[in-house]
Amino acid sequence: MSADQPEDQSHEIGGSGLTRRILVGMAAGLAVGLVVNLLALTGELADFVVAGLLHVGGEIFLASLKLLVVPLVLVSLVCGTAALDDLSRLGRLGGRTLALYLLTTAVAISLAITAAVLIQPGAGFDLPTDLAYEGRTAPPLSDTLIQLFPTNPIKALADGNMLQIIVFAVLLGLAMTMAGEPGKRALAIFEDFNAVIMRLVALLMRFAPYGVFCLIAKVFAQQGFEAFQPLLKYFFVVLGVLITHAVLVYPGLLTLFARLDPIRFFRKMRAPQVVAFSTASSGATIPVTLRTVERRLGVDNQVASFTIPLGATINMDGTAIMQGVATVFIAQAYGIDIGIGGYLTVVLAATLASIGTAGVPGVGLIMLAMVLRQVNLPVEGIGLILGIDRLLDMVRTAVNITGDAAVTCIVAKGEGQLDPEVFADPEAGA
Ligand code: ASP
Repeated sequence: MSADQPEDQSHEIGGSGLTRRILVGMAAGLAVGLVVNLLALTGELADFVVAGLLHVGGEIFLASLKLLVVPLVLVSLVCGTAALDDLSRLGRLGGRTLALYLLTTAVAISLAITAAVLIQPGAGFDLPTDLAYEGRTAPPLSDTLIQLFPTNPIKALADGNMLQIIVFAVLLGLAMTMAGEPGKRALAIFEDFNAVIMRLVALLMRFAPYGVFCLIAKVFAQQGFEAFQPLLKYFFVVLGVLITHAVLVYPGLLTLFARLDPIRFFRKMRAPQVVAFSTASSGATIPVTLRTVERRLGVDNQVASFTIPLGATINMDGTAIMQGVATVFIAQAYGIDIGIGGYLTVVLAATLASIGTAGVPGVGLIMLAMVLRQVNLPVEGIGLILGIDRLLDMVRTAVNITGDAAVTCIVAKGEGQLDPEVFADPEAGA
């Protein structure tokens, strides 16, 4: 954590006052959106409010989050890497984080497939005849590996290519520790920038309650609920597994691997969860997740600056759950039996597909096309669930970032980089 903590912390992220206001923003957004939707309000005034005011307010909030991501990840990770006293820790940290990210994703998708096979959401589903969905093909694994390394770091930063930014920042941080006096001077500049950008995060988060309100009101005002009727079973199976994974698997791992109180963890995670829910983007939520994990949960920047951006990019348990249920649903709807071998392929394909895919809205469906191809299921089947995907995307994004934070706490505890007093203090960072 930076030594230059600003004195005025009254608007700290996840502070109880701000969290409460964000929750009020969410509830008000839900209420307004549903009223507009249920009363089927149309006409110029409704358009002005929904497509005008709510849209503009929501997009400005999203932009203000996204503008923070690249500078925050770069400076924070450079500082975190440069502060590593022992280089072997970097390898250990990376190894444990990756192992836990893969493990949680594999558990998530296995849970999803089991539930969907038992409940059979797609059995007897009436297939429409006019389905169309064009899937993309997956890039080969070799390309994904080569593309981890940026040829032009400025381009990586400009494109927001998270994995390339992570590689560049780690290399830069390592070089700073090795470069003697010039390295120290360069690091001091980055540390100052880190403090300033953290302040900017806190500043922009003051508008989060209004941003959350606009985003949620707009989604619920425009969501076509007719699409839900035939898909209720699918919707509730995905929702049920998402909730089960969040309330059983993460608390289990936190207790078992790190002896941390899951209830404290969940209380403090409310602000980033609501932001993830309203933006449906783990990437855009990085600033909020990172600050919450450091200030509220007591994880040192050395760990969090690495694990949170990495998790937002490669660890998507919620997405994997949707893919598991969706694959089984599509197989059942088309009356195709992919067998045990098929399901195992799905577990592997979905776990791997989540690596290297950005945390942005709707990307889960693109990855689903890759998974379906692996087991020769019709990619157009995605058209069946498209209409109701936005709401599930919101919930699964909240699960995705909760998984990132849980793994971060476990890894940090194992490294002695989690301050138990901050974790236990309900008002820490507030
Ligand atoms: N929206 C999700 C995220 O950003 C990804 C997805 O499932 O589409 O984490």
